[in-house]
Amino acid sequence: MQFPIHIATPVAHPGPHPDSADVVVIGAGVAGVSAALFLNRRGLKVVLLEKGRVAGEQSSRNWGWIRQQGRDPDELPIMVEARRLWLQLAEESGEDMGLAPGGVTYLATSDKEMAQFEDWIQYARANDVDSHMMTTAEVDDLVPGMATRYKGALRTPSDMRGEPWLAVPALARLAAREGVTVVEHCAARTLDISGGKVAGVVTEQGRIAAPQVLLTGGAWSSLFLRAHGVAMPQLSVRATVAATEQLPTVHEGGVADDKIAFRRRNDGGYSIAAGGFHDLYIGPDAFRNVFKYLHVLGEHPFSTRYHLKSPAAYPDAWGTPRRWDGDRESPFERMRILNPAPSKVALKKFTGGFSRLFPEFGEIRLRTAWAGMIDLMPDTVPVLDRAEALPGLWIGTGLSGHGFGIGPGIGRVLADLIAGNAPGHDLTRFRLARFSDGTPIRPGPAL
Ligand SMILES: Cc1cc2nc3c(=O)[nH]c(=O)nc-3n(C[C@H](O)[C@H](O)[C@H](O)COP(=O)(O)OP(=O)(O)OC[C@H]3O[C@@H](n4cnc5c(N)ncnc54)[C@H](O)[C@@H]3O)c2cc1C
Repeated sequence: MQFPIHIATPVAHPGPHPDSADVVVIGAGVAGVSAALFLNRRGLKVVLLEKGRVAGEQSSRNWGWIRQQGRDPDELPIMVEARRLWLQLAEESGEDMGLAPGGVTYLATSDKEMAQFEDWIQYARANDVDSHMMTTAEVDDLVPGMATRYKGALRTPSDMRGEPWLAVPALARLAAREGVTVVEHCAARTLDISGGKVAGVVTEQGRIAAPQVLLTGGAWSSLFLRAHGVAMPQLSVRATVAATEQLPTVHEGGVADDKIAFRRRNDGGYSIAAGGFHDLYIGPDAFRNVFKYLHVLGEHPFSTRYHLKSPAAYPDAWGTPRRWDGDRESPFERMRILNPAPSKVALKKFTGGFSRLFPEFGEIRLRTAWAGMIDLMPDTVPVLDRAEALPGLWIGTGLSGHGFGIGPGIGRVLADLIAGNAPGHDLTRFRLARFSDGTPIRPGPAL
């Protein structure tokens, strides 16, 4: 079975890595792969390091929604660009990325939700995105067979889906064909620092001299940064997904209400999940950052399950070392691919919910289920910035559960920042210093 994840796939990019580069990118998820591709297109010599497999973590485990709808106003222009880039890159790669139209539709169960949706439409209009409100009758026509009658919906017809376990490895092959050195099964252990500046990276294979390093490490980013004295209040939560056996088509796009989310798959089933339901494993970072996350916990008090102990070797597990030397095994090699077991509670919740929503489907049979650790920031928008304290270090992380769709846009923006070009969008909101300079935490829309 090809999906969902690259746990047992052979290494496709064995290296070895060269001993120098213009830029080393750490982490080959959608952000790192896209940034490496565009850095190379800016004429820079790029090495992309991945401790496990390209897209082995979040970037192959997500729902595959390429969604402009509901985005933070400052993310939306980058997302509009990213949607265009997905189509362009799929053509350039010549490979099947599973891109398909169908739109994204959010169903409202209350007048309050309808008002929130209507309020967001101003941002769509400002960016020429085709989002619009729908009535109850229009929802019934769009997605026939649902047992619930909704108040209405917010819909963006130009939103798409992709199959992430196809799309991101295909992007990495495109980057490699164009000249990026991609090296899997090769952890970046530490930064090589000289005279207070980045001079390169120490990997498990040796040293790469490079004046610029970009960290796109997903759920591992804050562990890496803290070991170099850079604080970033990132946490990660487990999110569970399942794919059903083949079922009749009721709708081609992505659909979500406040409890369940589903989207059609190209194999004739549906990917289903419980929208806002997550598991948080409490570790030292969770303690340290709890106050920065209070508003999120307050807004959705029952959507997170707490666990006092995380499985061994997770980024924020109690036993995970916080400091290590470049000449010894690091936490990144101990966990090549972060592969959480799916939550049985979540599976029961959303499988039951899907079956109640579509009674004509009968009992829902699952083909497979999986989980991923979503890396989160307190305001649910990423950090796209240089590390002021360490010249030469750049950060592109904290994509907060919606980084697949925007990934190519994030990569393009980071590449231009690093190459010294204008990024083309206002990135003030994505500064690292917002968490330390007294800026009030302003969460993105929880839509
Ligand atoms: C269940 C689920 C559903 C989601 N649904 C959607 C969706 O529908 N739409 C959407 O837009 N987004 C969605 N997301 C979010 C999206 O998947 C992520 O935001 C995005 O994939 C993050 O990409 P990334 O490149 O930042 O991180 P990742 O994909 O996590 O990649 C980081 C990589 O860095 C590597 N790494 C870390 N440290 C090191 C090191 N020291 N050396 C070498 N390599 C290292 C890791 O092994 C990893 O492969 C979902 C996420 C999950 C888990």
